[in-house]
Formats: sequence, structure tokens, C-alpha cells
Amino acid sequence: MIRKYLTSQHKDIIQLLSLTLGKNNAWLFANDNYQLNKDEIQKLNVLIKNRANGVPFAYLSGAKGFYHLDFKVTTDTLIPRPETELLIDIALNLFTDNKEPYNILDLGTGSGIIAITLADKNPHWQVSATDFSQYALEVAKKNSTNDINFQQGSWFDAVPKQRFDLIISNPPYIKENDPHLLKLKHEPISALVSGKDGLDDIRLIIKRAHQHINKRGYLLLEHGYDQQEEIISLLQEKFSYIKTFKDYNFKNRAILSRLK
Ligand code: GLN
Repeated sequence: MIRKYLTSQHKDIIQLLSLTLGKNNAWLFANDNYQLNKDEIQKLNVLIKNRANGVPFAYLSGAKGFYHLDFKVTTDTLIPRPETELLIDIALNLFTDNKEPYNILDLGTGSGIIAITLADKNPHWQVSATDFSQYALEVAKKNSTNDINFQQGSWFDAVPKQRFDLIISNPPYIKENDPHLLKLKHEPISALVSGKDGLDDIRLIIKRAHQHINKRGYLLLEHGYDQQEEIISLLQEKFSYIKTFKDYNFKNRAILSRLK
């Protein structure tokens, strides 16, 4: 009977049972005398073991919710973080005329969350998305509901000579030796880590962004809680109207700026 699992101490057991049986929580509790068959027991045991070994639930279910949509995720893509929803709110408030076909670029799209969410909310926008990893792009393409221009390549190499009204990115920004990484060992390291101070990729993006932004266009970056000052000083040469944002944990998390 599943009752014994429902009251057990396994991590995320209710969600794992739900995944095994394809039933929701209400069903599980209403049918707590249900007997698992052999295959179901085996499937559940594998899930319990992986979860106990620290595999994130999103990699076991293959999905994660972000903003108003559900996204497929694989170990080739970072798992969407709620912090990144902040970038969506900022971007959606940026342009008042929603009918304009603004050109938007999501650099390093991963599973596609930023590009796809924005395109879904604003079908008039022309959205492009890049990633260095062809495997991540395959996941993003599967997640895509709108017409998004996907390009493979490292940062701006993927979109040479193109200009945008808004470039938005959640690049890797964790420091090489950050102890926090131990907890993230199941996610792709290339999506997380960016050199000694975590700023290698952000420096690169800021250095070249002005060649890819239309006059008075915007650059919006997610970053680490302790990187705000350094990023502002990197931006000051070419950008003005620098605006900072905190996430829901009151940590500095995003910077918006406008090409001078
Ligand atoms: N916010 C993520 C974390 O700290 C990192 C994401 C990133 O590097 N872009 O877990």
C-alpha cells in the first residue's frame, strides 16, 4: 500500500510517488490503500535512490515551471530559478507599446525560458535566442511555442552583425571555487561558473554588447549578489540609465542599462 510511503521520510516522496504513478497528490491521499505493482515499485525505488543522491527533482521529472509556462529540462540545461522571473518582469515593463515588433535577444538561453516566456507574452516581439551548447538548443527548440530565431554560438558570435532593442541574459556568474557549487553538481558547470570572480562572461558580454544594441536600446543582466558594483563600473563607459534590482530574497540580482 502506498500509505507507508506517504508517511515515510524520503525526500520529496509525495512528488516521486506522483511521478511514478502519473497521479496528483489528491489522488494519492484518496487512494492510500493502492498497491504498487512490481514495475511501479522498481521505478519508485530508482527515483528514491537518485533523489537521495542529490539529483534535483526537475531532472527526475524532466520539467520545471517558470513564470506561466512549463519547461522541459535535461542535464544539458540549468534548472530554471525563480530569481530569473525578475528579468521577465523587468523586460515586460520596459516597452509600453506592445504592438511594436521589438527585437529581443536572449543570450545563453539554456532551456529557453527567457526567450520563450517573453515571446509567449508578446507575440509581436521578434525574439532570438542563442546558446553555445547544441544540446541545450535542442531542448529550447522543443520548449518553444512561438517562432523564435535560435542560433548556436558563444555569446555574440552566434548573432554577428545583428542589433537588438533589448539584450537579456542570465549568464554563468558563479566563482570558480565557490563552495555553493557542491550543491549544484548535477547541473552543467558551463552554465554556472565563470572564472575566478564569476565575471568572465559578463565582462565579455558588456564589452561587445554596444555593437549589438540599437540606439537607446537596453541590456539586462542577471548577476551574483555581490557583483553589482563591479558590473556598474564595467557598464559606465558605454551605458547610461543604470538601474539595479533586488530579487525576492532582497539580494542584488539584476542590472538594466541603456546604450548611451
Ligand atoms: N542563480 C544560480 C545559482 O546561484 C546561478 C545561475 C547562473 O550562474 N546564471 O544557483
